[in-house]
Amino acid sequence: MSEFTKTLCPYCGVGCGLEVSPPAQFNKAINRDSQGNPIWRVRGDKAHPSSQGMVCVKGATIAESLDKNRLHYPMMRDSLDQEFRRISWDEAFDLITKRIQTVRFTQGPEAICMYGSGQFQTEDYYIAQKLLKGCLGSNNFDANSRLCMSSAVAGYIQSFGSDGPPCCYEDLELTDCAFLIGTNTAECHPIVFNRLEKYHKKNRKVKMIVVDPRRTPTAEAADLHLAIRPGTDIDLLNGIAHLLMRWNYIDTGFIDDCTSNFSAYAEVIRHYPPEVVARQCGISIEDLETAARYWGQSQRVLSLWSMGVNQSSEGTAKVRTIINLHLMTGQIGKPGAGPFSLTGQPNAMGGREAGGLAHLLPGYRLVKNDQHRAEVEDFWGLKRGQISPNPGLTAWDMITGLENGAVGLLWIAATNPAVSMPDLERTKKALLRSPFTIYQDAYYPTETAAYAHLLLPAAQWGEKTGVMTNSERRVTLCPAFRQPPREAKADWEIFAEVGRRLGFVKEFAFANSGEVYAEFVQLTRNRPCDMTGISHEQLKIQGPTQWPHPQESRGAGEAGGEIKTKRLYTDLRFHTSDGRARFGAYYSRGLAEPPDPDYPLVLTTGRLYGHWHTQTRTGRVEKIRSMHPQPFIEIHPRDAAVLKITDNQVVEVRSRRGKAFFPAKITKAIVPGTVFVPMHWGALWANNAEANALTHSESCPDSLQPELKACAVQVLPI
Ligand code: SF4
Repeated sequence: MSEFTKTLCPYCGVGCGLEVSPPAQFNKAINRDSQGNPIWRVRGDKAHPSSQGMVCVKGATIAESLDKNRLHYPMMRDSLDQEFRRISWDEAFDLITKRIQTVRFTQGPEAICMYGSGQFQTEDYYIAQKLLKGCLGSNNFDANSRLCMSSAVAGYIQSFGSDGPPCCYEDLELTDCAFLIGTNTAECHPIVFNRLEKYHKKNRKVKMIVVDPRRTPTAEAADLHLAIRPGTDIDLLNGIAHLLMRWNYIDTGFIDDCTSNFSAYAEVIRHYPPEVVARQCGISIEDLETAARYWGQSQRVLSLWSMGVNQSSEGTAKVRTIINLHLMTGQIGKPGAGPFSLTGQPNAMGGREAGGLAHLLPGYRLVKNDQHRAEVEDFWGLKRGQISPNPGLTAWDMITGLENGAVGLLWIAATNPAVSMPDLERTKKALLRSPFTIYQDAYYPTETAAYAHLLLPAAQWGEKTGVMTNSERRVTLCPAFRQPPREAKADWEIFAEVGRRLGFVKEFAFANSGEVYAEFVQLTRNRPCDMTGISHEQLKIQGPTQWPHPQESRGAGEAGGEIKTKRLYTDLRFHTSDGRARFGAYYSRGLAEPPDPDYPLVLTTGRLYGHWHTQTRTGRVEKIRSMHPQPFIEIHPRDAAVLKITDNQVVEVRSRRGKAFFPAKITKAIVPGTVFVPMHWGALWANNAEANALTHSESCPDSLQPELKACAVQVLPI
């Protein structure tokens, strides 16, 4: 038997396959981290269809983060100014159940909130939904995916009648034109980019267009880089549509047979002629025309996007406007074509499947839909009406709920909102007002632990068995290959024990996570994400499997037989009531907070190649720390000259909400009028260098995703 365990990288949504072996197997000597802990050996899994053996620096060094600064025991304190003291799990569970019951009966179930994470395995997500939305009757479960890809979810639902990225990674190597907008794929989804770049280099007729205000490593590889002004994405997309229409590059057969609402869309794009669009976006008419020509003349166009599109006050409109281009040119449901959102986190997709946002229920169901609620209530054995018809509080609503006293208990798990939320000063003040905060995480300290009354030690990747789904809908089993440290427990086990202690004994009578998953997939039966043919056992035998994979297809898979469905909508029928995909007609509204004379620059935020989110893991890996030793602000030389700023000079950056300090990096890689700051540094890692001290909470009205990507700032030399 091989000493290697097959699993999935727990960082980004690319979902690369990994193989892990115990420390003693490393060159017959034990490799140790800086705290003396043995390091497990990790390598890419060549048999994993998504990544084919490739890994980036995060995946390659994951093992170095496993043992450092772990939270080992439950700990509590009565108030935030006290020290934590160690308690037993029994005491911790008693305390949680008493607090839940008190809040339930004094303020009602809607005062109970859980803020979870795309780091959860699907089993963790599912049990949390059953506990909160089912047994307790509170839809206040939201995940950090709200900050990441909820605009993609809303866009897919509105355009296609259901969530679900329609494409697969194989499309990267089958397309004629890759259109990347609002995504620095080379740094944020490196293995997806490796696949695309290799193919692009080998096939010079294949075009790559990158739309980004920064000249990122992704843009460097493009045939055409459109460095648009932040907030002009819809202008650009409608401008491309205008030219496709003018040059008759549209697929009228597809539009007539498979879509609705085209005339409203055609009326909108009439107002986006190239001279207006080029001026608005800050690009040349020639470049705009080249982009439209690449689109129009390609047989297969693949769009890729991530946070640059989603984290916007018009995020859903942007997603739908990308999809519109595919609908007007018939670029969907075939190899090498389609609108493909790249998920940020390793299992944000599994969260969507399990109903892990405040408006969702398991199996791609909606809280607002009467039939969907009834189906879930029946399945869970609850009385009709137990699940509230109202969507719960979103991530930002929980912050405002703390401000106005609506939140009586906040349970945060596997995420670090004291760094990642917008408008951090306001966020931290709200967290200080929380009557009772449970913080469940693998690591200690983190920035958010400072706001907790009760700390619960969580088992993490490699210490619990469960599944994760990556951006191409591929489900991979992630088995436990080591013991959790000391008293750490799997997230789902903690939620289930609380459920049992609240009296829901049979509802949470699971012996292991395989049983949890087996129950969950039954709720996907006949849904767009049907996974009834997938189980832990099946994944062990056949390996990673894409959904839809209904029970009838059990036995079909990469190892076991022919896979019939790699893409969605190959029959050109959509999940809307009439089976047609819907055009969305949107005029551009621009930024929620545009620059003005007081705050004349646009700040955009983003990620770096080596770091992951708030550095809870990657901040503990020496190689990555030396790769990205400190935060910085990118400023165009023209702006730097006006402000009299020199390279490496520390500058003060102010917005209407807060300030932060960064060394300046003067570079033509950013457009004039815009500055860029990476979002990874919280208070633990740097003094006053938090990107989100500056950002605001204005959100997309449909997806309720905050506009973390842009705000107005002033930059002052000090
Ligand atoms: Fe992990 Fe993403 Fe890197 Fe793959 S690309 S190794 S999933 S961080």
